[in-house]
Amino acid sequence: MNILITGSNRGIGLALVKSFLKEKALVIAACRNPEKTGELIKLKREHEGSLEIVCCDVADDNSVSACAKEAGSYVTGLDILINNAAIYPKPNEERLEEIALKKITDAINTNTIGPMRMTKAFLGLLKKGDNPRVVNISSGAGSISKLMAPAPSYGYAISKAAMNMATRSMAGDLKAYGITVVSVSPGWVQTDMGGSNASISPQESAESITATVLNLNIDKASLWLNRQGQEAEWAW
Ligand code: NDP
Repeated sequence: MNILITGSNRGIGLALVKSFLKEKALVIAACRNPEKTGELIKLKREHEGSLEIVCCDVADDNSVSACAKEAGSYVTGLDILINNAAIYPKPNEERLEEIALKKITDAINTNTIGPMRMTKAFLGLLKKGDNPRVVNISSGAGSISKLMAPAPSYGYAISKAAMNMATRSMAGDLKAYGITVVSVSPGWVQTDMGGSNASISPQESAESITATVLNLNIDKASLWLNRQGQEAEWAW
């Protein structure tokens, strides 16, 4: 089993790397600054032959293309792509009058276009994968029907809602190739993004996401799932 995870140097991404290594997968850990990722480098030493670290800025076309090329030197097909990397622009100026619109376009470029850019670049490898799956890490903050109060960051909420629609669009499009595309919510997790008051650890989140991803097949294409793999209609 081959898997590539974006934003793998910390938080939920790093926990997913550890969780899939336990499943004996060949893990390709993609991150922006491979040379600065002490924990990944240590893991690579401990899991020689099962972990590769590649450079990837999901907000940048050239970086993503180079990443796909490098990944292609390690695997002939990709079974699982987890689009985990995301930014949460700080909601310090959340009145429309004051907000810098660039914060919103940056969030959309990373959180919405990022997963599409990755999926497009890895399509060739995914087509050669076994039960190929694309998992877009979503958020309750992207729910339109269940508005969060107080409202979360404009850029984050808009970008995650749009990412859910990208999941649906790609799921319909790529079904013809047998590629399953879903959105999965990780829960409220103790990371730099989720904060220390969050309800679960990265490990707990990653282990349940791993079990969900291992059970995915084309019948689940286009669904929005919670981390335990149940369909969560309220999130749309
Ligand atoms: P963190 O802020 O802890 O980590 C974010 C990761 O994304 C880092 O590895 C970061 O890399 C990476 N990243 C950001 N921008 C880019 C980029 N342009 N290219 C490549 N990597 C990038 O977040 P979490 O681990 O908490 O979040 C992981 C996912 O879970 C996200 O999609 C998030 O939206 C989602 N989520 C998290 C929740 C929570 O409670 N934590 C709740 C709901 C959803 P770098 O170190 O280089 O900045």
